Amino acid sequence: MLNIVIFGAPGSGKGTQSDKIIAEYGVEHISTGDVLRAEINCNTELGKTAAAYINEGKLVPDSLIIDILASTLDAKGKDIKGVIFDGFPRTIAQAEALNNMLAERGQEVSTVIGLEVNDEELIKRIIARGKTSGRADDNEETAKKRLDTYYSQTMPLKDFYIKEGKYAKIDGVGSIDDIYSNIKAAIDAVK
Ligand code: AMP
Repeated sequence: MLNIVIFGAPGSGKGTQSDKIIAEYGVEHISTGDVLRAEINCNTELGKTAAAYINEGKLVPDSLIIDILASTLDAKGKDIKGVIFDGFPRTIAQAEALNNMLAERGQEVSTVIGLEVNDEELIKRIIARGKTSGRADDNEETAKKRLDTYYSQTMPLKDFYIKEGKYAKIDGVGSIDDIYSNIKAAIDAVK
């Protein structure tokens, strides 16, 4: 079972590269951001709660997101090749919860693909994406808050996974195909 975490700041290319990984390795995609946006579109209670955090560039509380992740993972069933976790974990508590959830299933994180991109490029990409994504949080003001949140709450995960020997550093600036070929090499090294 191939359990890939794709890790990086907002705008680092997690979604774009996830699509390529899914096409090649046939793994299931779990994007907590997509799950939350679906809840918002359906105007559920969970969606209303999540929107208040998302629009402020803040993280949705761990307890909520860990429950969402567990039920999304269960819904995928057992007959799968693996999962790519996109936008999860974003805190140490979430990473520990993921380790426990996978351990309960006799599995573990195979590798963490860490897409590294400078701030200037990240903001530029998010603003460009906002022109077509329709996402309320893809604007300069919220993007800057999201980056602050990333550095204070999510970045510490890099050391967490380095200590576990799982972090594969990938330069996230360049052509999509060149970046992907480095990702593929990292995945093939643990397959
Ligand atoms: P994304 O699509 O991954 O950029 O996520 C969009 C927004 O959803 C984030 O800025 C957070 O507000 C929220 N979100 C997504 N995933 C998580 C997570 N794992 N933990 C907390 N909040 C999350």
